[in-house]
Amino acid sequence: LRDIAIKSKKLEAVEHMGAAISHEVRNPLTSAKGFFQLIQEQENLSDKTREYAFIGISELNQAERVIKDYLTFSKPTLNKMEQIEVSKELDLILSILQPLANQSSVEIVTYYEDKGMLLGDRTKFHQCFINVIKNAIESMPNGGIVTIRTNTFEKNVSIMIEDEGIGMTKEQLERLGEPYYSTKDYKGTGLGMMVVYSIVKAMKGQIKVHSELGMGTTCEFHFPTENKN
Ligand code: ADP
Ligand code: MG
Repeated sequence: LRDIAIKSKKLEAVEHMGAAISHEVRNPLTSAKGFFQLIQEQENLSDKTREYAFIGISELNQAERVIKDYLTFSKPTLNKMEQIEVSKELDLILSILQPLANQSSVEIVTYYEDKGMLLGDRTKFHQCFINVIKNAIESMPNGGIVTIRTNTFEKNVSIMIEDEGIGMTKEQLERLGEPYYSTKDYKGTGLGMMVVYSIVKAMKGQIKVHSELGMGTTCEFHFPTENKN
């Protein structure tokens, strides 16, 4: 019980920090973007200067996206609800993660049940599964297989992400999702699973994690479906 209290205190601190950062950093970003736009509007600009301004704006846009997707977990606002075709979105995520998988000879195998649909925010869905699949890949530095399965039972879609990686001890498993909890030193943020838990909660889903040290980990998700019509 005490652990839970500490966990939620920490979570609260991170939520505050996340909200503060997104607020404090978003304003100067917007302002810097405005100045680049003013440069772009000037006449007689050289091609180089125009290109630099363009790059500057694109980079600031990217920074804004990171803040939105990574730091507004504080209050997972699911404002843009749409029909998500689970397999299609998972494939999109896999195309983003393929280079990372290739780096450590990880193969990703998918078994999709074709009609998996759910109602939710696509961006959050991406954020959630990028974080989980990234962990699965990172758990196998010397290669292995990540298996992704989707199934629909009655009014639920299930998504399973299975790896054959280093696995976790019982203690590690208990700390999963705790802010800043990471065993990856400087390479980890320890925010990935926390984001996952808060998105799953906001999507009224459930997550179960099974893990065995040296054997691998399975993250099992259940989300309520919505019919297409
Ligand atoms: P990060 O990946 O930045 O360390 P996460 O919140 O994504 O932070 O994960 C927290 C920790 O949980 C990881 O550092 C790792 O110890 C453990 N973990 C998460 N997913 C897995 C997995 N698939 N296999 C083994 N350990 C995992
Ligand atoms: Mg991670």
